[in-house]
Amino acid sequence: MSAEPLLAVEDVDAGYGETQVLSDLSLSIDDGEIVSLVGRNGAGKTTTLRTIMGILEPTTGRITYRGDDVSRLDATKTAERGLAFVPEERRIFPELSVKENLEIAEYGGATDADSLSVGEALDTFENLKARAGNAGSSLSGGEQQMLAIARALVGGADLVLLDEPTEGLAPYIVQDVMDIVADLNERGITVLLVEQNVHVCLELADRNYVINQGEIVYEGSSTELEANEEVLDRYLGIT
Ligand code: ATP
Repeated sequence: MSAEPLLAVEDVDAGYGETQVLSDLSLSIDDGEIVSLVGRNGAGKTTTLRTIMGILEPTTGRITYRGDDVSRLDATKTAERGLAFVPEERRIFPELSVKENLEIAEYGGATDADSLSVGEALDTFENLKARAGNAGSSLSGGEQQMLAIARALVGGADLVLLDEPTEGLAPYIVQDVMDIVADLNERGITVLLVEQNVHVCLELADRNYVINQGEIVYEGSSTELEANEEVLDRYLGIT
């Protein structure tokens, strides 16, 4: 067994054109963990995920995946290596059926013996199976989130980058989505979970990074973060 992390982000700066968003950002994730990146609106969470996935290129620093430097790979190449990004918006193709959404993921993702077939994914997500022929746009927000996660499984993802999976969902659906994330992790999939909702992080994550103005300002287990009133108050607005 190697002690090397699955993913390591080392001293990364990144942003949009002249606008620098991430400063000297470092984080690491071990195989099998759920790690959260939590912070306020505009703190740089989505930018971090985009940079890891290869949608944005870091201006300085390095990103390694399974020990290989992936800093300059685009999102097609990182997907082939087993990364999947589930964005906050437009997670699925609304005009395609549920089944077609899964079939597309099968072609675009990693070639991986562990990936689910479309049939297995539909068996796993019963809500989706019942609606396999329906357009993606006909699904509820929670079902769309499930379909997006199912796409990552079909695509053979080993590391799923989840951008605010509970955003905008009714409270009873939030729990369903959290159960799915926990289930995903039990299948051996590593998760980087971006959230504004610290309660979701505390319940699901092994470790948490707090991001503020593009910088990591805290790292700790859920037990440690839950007990740290100063961090909760100062960076997450929870008193
Ligand atoms: P949110 O919860 O709102 O998604 P976030 O923590 O994910 O917040 P980011 O989306 O990473 O934050 O945004 C960080 C900063 O980068 C913000 O100041 C935002 O205005 C800026 N930003 C985001 N996207 C772009 C873009 N395409 N061009 C220029 N600036 C951007």
